[in-house]
Amino acid sequence: MGPVQIVATSVAAAITVVAVALVVRTVRRMLAVVRLGQPDPSRGGDRAQRLKTMLAETLGHTRMLRWTVVGAAHWFVMIAFIALSSLVLEAYFEVAVPDHGLPLIGGWSLYGLLTEWIGVLGFIGILVLIGIRLRNLPSNPERRSRFTGSTMWQAYYVEYTILAVLLCGFFIRGFKAANDTLEWPVWAAPVSHALGGVLPASAAAVSLVAMVKIIVSMTWVIVIASNITMGVAWHRFLAFFNIYFKRSPGRKGSGLGALRPMTSEGKPLDFEEADPEKDQFGVAQVEQFTWKGMLDFTTCTECGRCQSQCPAWNTGKPLSPKLLILNLRDHAYAKAPYLLAGGGKTLTGDEKATQEQLAKVDVLALAEAERPLIGGVDENGVIDPDVLWSCTTCGACVEQCPVDIEHVDHIVDMRRYQVLIESNFPTEAGVMLRNLENKGNPWGAAQSTREDWTKGLDFPVPNVADGGDFEYLFWVGCAGAFEDRAKKTTRAVATLLNEAGVSFAILGQGETCTGDPARRIGNEFVFQMLAQQNVETLNEAGVKKIVATCPHCFNTLANEYGQLGGHFEVIHHTQLLAQLVSAGKLTPIQPLDGAVTYHDPCYLGRHNRVFAPPREVLGAVTATADGAADGAGLVEMDRFAERSFCCGAGGARMWMEERIGKRINVERVEEALSTGAKTVAVSCPFCLTMLGDGVTGKKAAGAAPDDVEVVDVASVLLRAVQK
Ligand code: SF4
Ligand code: SF4
Repeated sequence: MGPVQIVATSVAAAITVVAVALVVRTVRRMLAVVRLGQPDPSRGGDRAQRLKTMLAETLGHTRMLRWTVVGAAHWFVMIAFIALSSLVLEAYFEVAVPDHGLPLIGGWSLYGLLTEWIGVLGFIGILVLIGIRLRNLPSNPERRSRFTGSTMWQAYYVEYTILAVLLCGFFIRGFKAANDTLEWPVWAAPVSHALGGVLPASAAAVSLVAMVKIIVSMTWVIVIASNITMGVAWHRFLAFFNIYFKRSPGRKGSGLGALRPMTSEGKPLDFEEADPEKDQFGVAQVEQFTWKGMLDFTTCTECGRCQSQCPAWNTGKPLSPKLLILNLRDHAYAKAPYLLAGGGKTLTGDEKATQEQLAKVDVLALAEAERPLIGGVDENGVIDPDVLWSCTTCGACVEQCPVDIEHVDHIVDMRRYQVLIESNFPTEAGVMLRNLENKGNPWGAAQSTREDWTKGLDFPVPNVADGGDFEYLFWVGCAGAFEDRAKKTTRAVATLLNEAGVSFAILGQGETCTGDPARRIGNEFVFQMLAQQNVETLNEAGVKKIVATCPHCFNTLANEYGQLGGHFEVIHHTQLLAQLVSAGKLTPIQPLDGAVTYHDPCYLGRHNRVFAPPREVLGAVTATADGAADGAGLVEMDRFAERSFCCGAGGARMWMEERIGKRINVERVEEALSTGAKTVAVSCPFCLTMLGDGVTGKKAAGAAPDDVEVVDVASVLLRAVQK
């Protein structure tokens, strides 16, 4: 070993020792913070499925590839990052013995070929990612950048480090080629050999560049070890775990569907026996999130995909799902020293050691511990109430998140405490909750009028109470029974089922609200009360199959009633109608006049993956046996299917005023009108109301043609099948 190699090796060894010591300390601290979260037994089990999902989402990049260019570039960078580990290891040999490489596999041409091309494609990939970031700078006033609020220097630092390490790798190989010591032939390492053609022969240069490569890599390790909340770097390691422990790993798509049930110390909360003094009612302190919540906060890469899709953020509300997660992360890590010293627990006189530890806690951590989790600027709260109540629970954030962060669960957990313990929620929603408790529906309509929608139909609608057999229980829903526009859908569905000879019955006055709005606003108590009553009614009636017109009812009946002992096969009316059309039991004969666009309701589409059936029905209507009318056909909006934009009514927002920013329904209606379609088809009573109101407003302002209408898919089909 010459003097250059001795110096280079000593420097590389010294910085590596420091980096390893720091990173071990940081990982231990990170684990301690994650463990501050509450137990969550639901994250165990199903290991094979979890592993499969994790591998598909990481190595297969199934989530990221939805963003085609970014996804492909990120895939190459990820693979290059994994390969970089072996290349950095290789540098430890090259720094000491310049004509040597990695032992065992280092001499294989296949190894040379793979690392060469991964290096080239990773290099291009990282340039693409840097370019995309530069084009979407938060400072660019033309765009509402997905990077707004992200810590930009950290992202640049990570990106330029990868670039520098890849460059070092090629220069090492280039110098080796110039020295005629490169292990691989030209066909396996063409770029390195080409570089070697222009570089001078120098063994010292190999050792020095290898030393630079190790310094750059270990400095990166030291920087991330010193910045425990640097998600843009840590996600490279944490994403595997966060995805592995996601809830419902086998569920198709990434929509959450059901909400996580309320738990206290990892056990389901039983309201009949719960004690507000001892049990946890939602989340009031950051350490009351589960450990998976803590892992979520730590894993966020700050990519802003969630933010870019959020209807609240896109219409000027203060809620950004990314900033919500980042605020919770920063708060959790700033408060952690206080919690790890035993803070937040009731101390008895004997816990002297804890008291002594607490006395040593940093003043900043003590100040952080004083902050309320939910509170306005004047209270120095971590999450502003306007942020909390702006969420429509549409699930766009969860759908887009490449590392499977579960924003909606965290938002609803915080709402639960505010509603159940603090009674602190938008006042106008109180009327809805009172109506649910007293009348069993959010509008406060008399239960005796639940079957009024059947009046005037030219066939009798069977009631379960009549005692006859039926295949489907037609779940009408509160909107379908009481809201005038939704009642038209209910009548259309009943008429179509009757025409197609489907055996069905309704519960009539035996039906009450499923409890969806109560659950989404955070009132789990009212939800459980209504849900238990419905499960009892349905089980007593021997119901096996349910057809529902409201996606919120559909989601609750299909995905949430199982938590309370109600197991049913639930189908949405658009699914059943598509089956009936396909089976020839309903035949559209009247072609639709003009083009139609379809708005995917969040709880049918994103949360439950029902995208095709409504389109199949509309497709049949626009291409009837009698031919299509001029200009007819289905035209999609810019944001459709998984990326559909909420109407603004979910998450109990239907019963809250929208005082901040642009109205979400107006934003969506403008998108629908821009397609030029005469018919805006929906398949949810809330979407019908929200988009209907939006179009009415536009017509009044002269901004929409008079003949545009918002109508349910069932009503479109009914018109088409009637002679
Ligand atoms: S659920 Fe929808 S509204 Fe709520 S934070 Fe996520 S994207 Fe935004
Ligand atoms: S999409 Fe996920 S990782 Fe990206 S900023 Fe949002 S929460 Fe963080």
